[in-house]
Parts: sequence; C-alpha cells; structure tokens
Amino acid sequence: MQCQTVLPGSECTFWGKHGCIHIGNSCENVVEECEGCERIVEGTIGKVCSVAPSPKKKWAVNICNFATHRKIEKKVVEQRINPLKASKRGGK
Ligand code: SF4
Repeated sequence: MQCQTVLPGSECTFWGKHGCIHIGNSCENVVEECEGCERIVEGTIGKVCSVAPSPKKKWAVNICNFATHRKIEKKVVEQRINPLKASKRGGK
C-alpha cells in the first residue's frame, strides 16, 4: 500500500490498513554511514532511505546490503577438490 506519512504516495510494504506497522509507526532517518547512497530520499521527517525503514539497523552489524556507495568485498573461497573425483575427471 502507499505510505501516507513519511513518503506520501510511494509504495511501502510496511503500510497497512491501520497505518505504518514499522516500530514507532514511522521510518527512521538515515545515519552517517548512509551519506553518499543513491537510495536516500527526502521525506516529511527529513532524509530517509527509500528501501529500508531503519537505516540504523542496516548498519548495526555490517555494511548495509542495499548501499550503492559501498560494497561488501567478496572473499574468494578456495574450492576444495576431491582428489579421487579429480583423478577420474582427468582420466577421461
Ligand atoms: S540503502 Fe542502506 S546505505 Fe543506502 S540509504 Fe538505505 S540504509 Fe542507508
């Protein structure tokens, strides 16, 4: 349904029949770590995130997975090769 408070008219999964069901019945403002992200939009309460109602929580553990300005560095996991299967493949 469409938000009618912070981002009026925008589709939001947190908006229901009884209004906003997010904690505190509202989105939260972006946090310092969000600066530079393309998902920041201006809402009626100031700068908010267009995809996450609680930016603070998105940054609580690690880098926000929706962030456009910072990316999680993927670690290359060394693939373990079963020597028995490898020898069979090599024999063909
Ligand atoms: S996507 Fe993440 S980094 Fe970007 S504004 Fe939203 S919470 Fe902040």
